[in-house]
Amino acid sequence: MISALLNRSHPYPQETLTSWMWRLTLENYLPSPSILLRYLHQKAVQTTPILQHQLLHMQTPALFQGFSELMYLSPSELYVHTLHIFAHALTHPGQANETIELSSGETVKLIPPRLHHDFYTRRFGWCPKCLAQARCVRLHWHIPFVTCCTTHHCWLLNHCPYCEKHITEADIVTGVCADCGFRLEEAEAVPVPEDDLLFILQRTVMSWLYGTQPPDLGFPQTTENVLLRVLLGLRYATQRAGNGWEFHHFPPHIPRPNLDILQHRLLTRFERGSLYTTAFRGVVDWPHGFYAFLDAYRTRPACKGRLGLRGQLGQIYVKWISRFWAHESFDFVQTAYNSYLLANFPATQIVSIQRAQIYPELVVQTDYLTLHHASAVFDIAPTTLHWLIAVGKLKAHNIPPYPNRIWLARDELEAVQLERKKAVPLAVVSRLLGVGKQRVYAMLQAGLLNLSTGFVANPDPGIGIELSTVHTFLSDLQQRVTIAQPDKVLKPVSLVKLCLHLATLGVNLPDVFQYILDGRLTAHHPRPDLLPLTDLWFLPETVTGIFSDIKEEHDWMGLVEVLAYLKVGRGLLQYFMDKGYLLPDKSFERKHFFRRAEVVALRERFVRTPLAKEILKFDETSIANLVANGLLHPVCGPGVNGYGHYMFERHEVLTWHDRYILRRDFALLTPHTGRLLRWLKKTGVVPLMKHPIIYLRAPVLEVLQQLKHSKWPA
Ligand SMILES: [Zn+2]
Ligand SMILES: [Zn+2]
Repeated sequence: MISALLNRSHPYPQETLTSWMWRLTLENYLPSPSILLRYLHQKAVQTTPILQHQLLHMQTPALFQGFSELMYLSPSELYVHTLHIFAHALTHPGQANETIELSSGETVKLIPPRLHHDFYTRRFGWCPKCLAQARCVRLHWHIPFVTCCTTHHCWLLNHCPYCEKHITEADIVTGVCADCGFRLEEAEAVPVPEDDLLFILQRTVMSWLYGTQPPDLGFPQTTENVLLRVLLGLRYATQRAGNGWEFHHFPPHIPRPNLDILQHRLLTRFERGSLYTTAFRGVVDWPHGFYAFLDAYRTRPACKGRLGLRGQLGQIYVKWISRFWAHESFDFVQTAYNSYLLANFPATQIVSIQRAQIYPELVVQTDYLTLHHASAVFDIAPTTLHWLIAVGKLKAHNIPPYPNRIWLARDELEAVQLERKKAVPLAVVSRLLGVGKQRVYAMLQAGLLNLSTGFVANPDPGIGIELSTVHTFLSDLQQRVTIAQPDKVLKPVSLVKLCLHLATLGVNLPDVFQYILDGRLTAHHPRPDLLPLTDLWFLPETVTGIFSDIKEEHDWMGLVEVLAYLKVGRGLLQYFMDKGYLLPDKSFERKHFFRRAEVVALRERFVRTPLAKEILKFDETSIANLVANGLLHPVCGPGVNGYGHYMFERHEVLTWHDRYILRRDFALLTPHTGRLLRWLKKTGVVPLMKHPIIYLRAPVLEVLQQLKHSKWPA
């Protein structure tokens, strides 16, 4: 395609493509740039935008190529005269930039073809002093954030100062208002002081747009498109704050703008500039500027008497925080907002909002939590929380606007949580050690483990055990136990078997552990951690050893031993036990253990017939007669318990002669036995039995004494 243009001037820096096309059109005596577009359409490019939309709709490489050939400028050079150079700042953070590859091989970003009027306006502002330098439309004049010229320190103008008509590209390039002929360069612009916040805002926006270094004002670390949207949101909030809001920033030299903007209408440049400047206060010195903005926002006239987040923070809360700043790029705003809520609103208000579900950290930081939230944050079942309240470990607080809810104080919950961490449920210890719950309970009672003062809850409610004591117990045990695999050759005895065996001595599992800890019982385990404890094993000789040790320790004799020692049968021993002559020291199930000393004493206590014969110097028949006549009292034997042989109390046998005297022994007392017998008869002292003849010793001795004193009367 050969260019139809004879005169081809170059574009000015920052000039829009449309502006430049107008200049070319006039230079080449054409009525309108539309002709150029139509020409392009006919020659090469299938879809060409209409002139009004041209700045946004330069979207294809073919268009760039067509313009390039028509206007003798490379596509890359053309690109910098389109709004696409602002793509990084104007595209929404959630929206990916379209890119195209120009014929020069360069890949460039495109702005979305539909840009909201907050980010682009066809009705550009203009600076008369800029026009004096070069009659062209600057790219940034189309951006509504830009309200003043940073080169000439003045407000941009929107209309012809003389006839109030809107200024077009054609007016700009000719330098005069087409309607009234006013020379635009002669228009007077309202100055903006360099130190005014408006000017600083404008310099910042220009640097965001053109990608230069912005002033260092403590902006949040994020991209330009995000910053512009934060600014936009605060601007809308400012717009709803009303005229009487003291936080408004009004640059000097302008009529005070009417900022009661509740109805949709076009804003004047002064209004827009003032609103953005006020909003700018919330973006600088992040997040303190933002907090200051929110603080101030809650003092706006519209907020008077209104409570609640909605009433206090209005648009910022309802629209921007909740919706338009929801994309992850705005997380820093959300975080700052959460911090602000926590610092400025009561917990009850924060916890009850839906936001608390999206930002659990908001709840995590509040002083009071509902039961439901406390359960989620502290991972304690609601039933357990109710229980803790019932037992007085937690206090149910009542907070006026929500009387039907239970509120729990964070510090109290933290204390409970701390307590809880120290305690481990008995069931868990049981699983850890590999021994039954009842055995663990027995270990608790034996003092091998300690009860915790903390509480335990789901999923293992019940007794809590001090976790540290479990660790101590295990590490103490590890000091004593030898690590070894149970070898069949050694005939290992398992812990369970050992316990069954020792149970006959009344020894239980805690005792076994105590024996191991005391070094009295050598134990082995295949694993260094000793878990599960049921894998402990013992050598058979160890088991025998501990068994007799324990018996010796108590000086016990088992039943069999006692029978052998006493040389009696099981029935007789049972008889002794029934009579209370010998009682077991300890009985486990049907096993009895007797104190050795008692058994020995018992053997000493009784004598059988042979020994009794020997002591009493009687024959067996006489012994039987003594028993029959009640002069000797067997503890067992025929007629007593059906036992075949008599057994007597040794004491009775030994003292028998002190009580009784035999007729045959009278000769030992006196030579006059005949007289003694006669006197005995006379005084009525008769023998107790006849075979042999036995008297009570005492009356016999008395008679004998009387005889001696009466000088033996005949
Ligand atoms: Zn200017
Ligand atoms: Zn005019």
